[in-house]
Amino acid sequence: MAGQVAGKVAVVTGGASGIGEACSETLAREGASVLITDIDDGLGKDVVGRIAKAGGKAHYLHHDVRDEAGWPGVIAEAEKRFGRLDIMVANAGIGIMAPIAEMTLADWQRQQAINLDGVFLSIRHAIPALKRAGGGSLVLMSSIAGLRGAPGLAAYSATKGGVRLLAKSVALEHAADNIRCNSVHPGIIATPIWGKIPTGAEGNRRNAPIDPRERAAQSVPLPRVGEAQDIANGVLFLCTEAANYMTGQELVIDGGITAGGKPTRPPQ
Ligand code: NAP
Repeated sequence: MAGQVAGKVAVVTGGASGIGEACSETLAREGASVLITDIDDGLGKDVVGRIAKAGGKAHYLHHDVRDEAGWPGVIAEAEKRFGRLDIMVANAGIGIMAPIAEMTLADWQRQQAINLDGVFLSIRHAIPALKRAGGGSLVLMSSIAGLRGAPGLAAYSATKGGVRLLAKSVALEHAADNIRCNSVHPGIIATPIWGKIPTGAEGNRRNAPIDPRERAAQSVPLPRVGEAQDIANGVLFLCTEAANYMTGQELVIDGGITAGGKPTRPPQ
């Protein structure tokens, strides 16, 4: 299949839903073979089905990014099935919302384990394979919460700030191997994650569903909420030849939220 990443092989973690799903479909549409990993097997297989129907190549593997013992099998599957590994999109993540003084250690650790340990393991296990391929692209999913504070999401922002600097250090360590590493910082994106965010401390959860469209209307300068495809477009760019001199950088895709302070709307 011709395209901007034709012949490349990618792993996308958390590829069954939202941003990961859009990344998987976009990379496949642009000619990459994609190994999708996730813990939601039904949705993961659906994404593979849609990619195959559109003429692309993809395979689904159940894998929890926290499971270190499972990581060698993920990389081996990509190399065995598709011949090499060129791209790792470390995207899987969750959000837990609670005032920091109420947050339990268990919630803090779960947040860190998926959002930060999971990204570390993605990198650690991808690098030998990227070296075997002569180089490649690591794309780490951070957030605008990794660029500035986020009240109620302190633990989340700690993980995303960690991802931001992890990308820069990895970029420097592996530049000589022709491995690029960049972080992506979405703003408010309409994906299923908003319906899954536990709010309040463990044992005292509040039922407060968050509507990303409502949130976006209050804080995004551009007049709409972000879509998963907006982020997938940036991820695709970081994996193409057009970005081959770009490493250790932050790609912010947020409709302008971080361009300035409040207010974000001109006076009427
Ligand atoms: P999403 O729709 O919930 O998709 C995330 C996928 O990751 C889900 O399929 C989820 O499965 C899976 N997952 C969760 N824990 C996992 C684990 N331990 N191992 C493997 N897979 C796991 O969320 P999204 O909005 O696309 O978010 C993707 C990334 O973008 C996250 O890192 C998020 O922090 C970041 N982000 C999102 C936004 C936004 O506004 N949406 C903004 C900034 C950054 P389950 O559904 O079973 O949990």
